[in-house]
Amino acid sequence: MMTKISKDTYCDILCRFFDAHFLDAKCALEYQKDYELVIAVMLSAQAKDERVNAVDKILFKKYPNLKSLKDANINDIIDIIKPLGLAKTKANNIKMIASLLLDECGGVVPHDANYLLTLPGIGNKAKNVILIELFNDEEFPVDTHVYRVSYRLGLREETDDVIRCENKLRKFFSNHSYKKLHHQMIAFGRTICKAISPNCQNCELKDYCRYFKSR
Ligand code: SF4
Repeated sequence: MMTKISKDTYCDILCRFFDAHFLDAKCALEYQKDYELVIAVMLSAQAKDERVNAVDKILFKKYPNLKSLKDANINDIIDIIKPLGLAKTKANNIKMIASLLLDECGGVVPHDANYLLTLPGIGNKAKNVILIELFNDEEFPVDTHVYRVSYRLGLREETDDVIRCENKLRKFFSNHSYKKLHHQMIAFGRTICKAISPNCQNCELKDYCRYFKSR
C-alpha cells in the first residue's frame, strides 16, 4: 500500500472499486460438466481461455463423456487441441484424467484437494480454481493477472512467489469472498491493469499503485 492509510481502509477502497467495476466477474472457462472444467483448467496452462473454450467445444462434442475421452485416439485429441500448445502432454493428460475419474471416482470430480493434485496437469492454482468453481470453497487462486495486480497494488512484495502471494491475499482480504475477488482481479488485469500498457491514466487506483508511482 503506497499511501498512509490503514489496512482496513485500503481493503475497503479496493473492494468498493472492484464491486463498482467488476461486480459480475466470473470464470471465463466454459463448461457443462464437472470433469469438463477439470480438463479446461488443465488445458488453460499457457493458453488463453477463449482458445480453450473454442477447442473444448470441438473436443466435448466429439467425445461427450469420460468413457469416450478415455478411449479416444490420442492423435485425434492432439489434432483437436493443437492450437493450445503442449498438445502431446495435454492430450495424454486428458486421457489420464478421464481414466482416473472413471476408475477411481465413479466418474465424479471429488471434493478432495489432495486428490485433485494427483491428477496430471493439475497444480496448486488449477486445484484452487476447481475448488472454487465446483464446490464454492474459499480458495484464492493466483494466476498471472492476480499475481501482477497484487504487486502493483502493494499487496505482495516483488520476491514473493505465488504461494506467499496467495497467503498475503487471504490475510489482507480475510473478511471478503476470495472467489469473487479472484475473478474481479483477473477482470481488472485483463481490461485495465494489463501486463503491457496498462490504462493508468483512467485508473482510479493510481494513488495506491507502486507501478504508477515508479514510472
Ligand atoms: S495505475 Fe496502472 S498499473 Fe496501477 S493499478 Fe491502475 S492500471 Fe494498474
